[in-house]
Amino acid sequence: MVASKEVKLRKDKSVFDLVSEHNHEKVVFCHDKDTGLKAIICIHNTVLGPALGGTRMWSYTSEAEALEDVLRLSRGMTYKAAISGLNLGGGKAVIIGDAKKDKNEALLRKFGRFIKNLNGCYITAEDVGMTTKDMEYIRMETEHVSGLPESMGGSGDPSPVSAYGTYMGMKAAAKKAFGSDSLEGRKVSVQGAGHVGAYLIELLKKENAEIYVTDIYEDRLREVSKKFGAKVVGMEEIYDLDVDIYSPCGLGGTINDNTIDRLRCKVIAGCANNQLRDEQVHGSALMTKGIVYAPDFLINAGGLINVYSELIGYNRDNAYAQTERIYGYTLDIFDLAEKEGMHTQQAAMKMAEKRIESIGRVRSTF
Ligand code: NAD
Repeated sequence: MVASKEVKLRKDKSVFDLVSEHNHEKVVFCHDKDTGLKAIICIHNTVLGPALGGTRMWSYTSEAEALEDVLRLSRGMTYKAAISGLNLGGGKAVIIGDAKKDKNEALLRKFGRFIKNLNGCYITAEDVGMTTKDMEYIRMETEHVSGLPESMGGSGDPSPVSAYGTYMGMKAAAKKAFGSDSLEGRKVSVQGAGHVGAYLIELLKKENAEIYVTDIYEDRLREVSKKFGAKVVGMEEIYDLDVDIYSPCGLGGTINDNTIDRLRCKVIAGCANNQLRDEQVHGSALMTKGIVYAPDFLINAGGLINVYSELIGYNRDNAYAQTERIYGYTLDIFDLAEKEGMHTQQAAMKMAEKRIESIGRVRSTF
């Protein structure tokens, strides 16, 4: 989620100013009066392949906030696909609305029609507020959807694979910070007990970590805390906890000017997209503070790897094996950052950009 302050600051910018800032290729505004659909599909970069990225449904406080979110998220997908070695570009979509109240078959199928009209330039999947069942409705209108239920020959919910990759990245970050990748006895705070958060907590529990958890939804929080013996903490309290590892698993932008000074952890490793409100400012602030930051787009790529493998012929074992490599890639990024005196987000972006540039050149001739 983007802070309202940031959105206000950007009100003076036109849509094209925002789109050109990070060189996005295409933004599609989808509207349908009958179903009440208001959605934005955003394609950031298609040098490596079609833009694949999930659809998020969220009660944004303004359209500007939704646009800002989808621009940031789609750009993140470009980096995620590139660093994971996938032949995919970056895209994302947001539907403005309350996923618990406003979602229905007609709205999702209408949204599917808009995706169909993009002729495969954009492929959707699940994100916050969406389920495999929703993908089924979208599939009724377009083939450009991944993350379908297993009963339909799809790869099912990507969340367990996302959680596994995040866990691998967390272990690599622990190795860097503490000299051992064991999480036994480590205090880990998880912000967001949603799909990925809960699977991550399950993995942490198996390794006997001491888990703290918070969420906006009380019921979900109670359920997850009871199931895995995680201690419930407040939504604000999580930033002040004396923990080893802070794991943002809700929405983005939680690492910012208001929170960095409060953090007492040595490692940040979570699945949320766009955790740094400002990549350069806050990436650098974490480095100065001596916090090992595992770049989000690198360690949360398991879900993308999973939905990508659905497109090329799904094999669950292969998807997990590829996701496991995130451990080594994360250590490589830490090494690169140290060698080049940059923060870890910068190093990961550099690695991804290098691949986009070199493969772009490969494809420059017929
Ligand atoms: P989800 O909707 O199932 O869960 C998110 C949870 O976070 C919700 O329960 C929500 O109430 C909670 N939350 C949001 N903001 C919060 C805050 N400030 N404090 C506490 N709780 C908060 O979503 P998900 O699929 O688990 O995804 C979580 C994050 O991981 C998102 O940023 C998503 O973009 C990212 N991600 C998900 C996948 C995937 O496979 N689902 C893959 C890569 C990245």
